[in-house]
Amino acid sequence: MDHVDGNVLAGPLGELFRFDLTTTSGECRHCGDIAVLARAMVYLDPSGYVVRCNSCGEMLMAIVTTEKRTWLDLSGVSGLQIPT
Ligand SMILES: [Zn+2]
Repeated sequence: MDHVDGNVLAGPLGELFRFDLTTTSGECRHCGDIAVLARAMVYLDPSGYVVRCNSCGEMLMAIVTTEKRTWLDLSGVSGLQIPT
């Protein structure tokens, strides 16, 4: 099957991530709970944020900012439900 490189995603990803992501629902990879991101428990750290599931307490995501870049770790989220 033919393929193209990831540059083709600039349009669709730009459309998906242009609004307030806290209104999207995420599915916890650990317990399967689906909830809007605004309900998550957020722990503030000098270098960023650790976001935990409001149901099981496991980490959903982390946002860490250094001098050179920001790291977005979504490893605890198995999917996002984005309204169309
Ligand atoms: Zn959970």
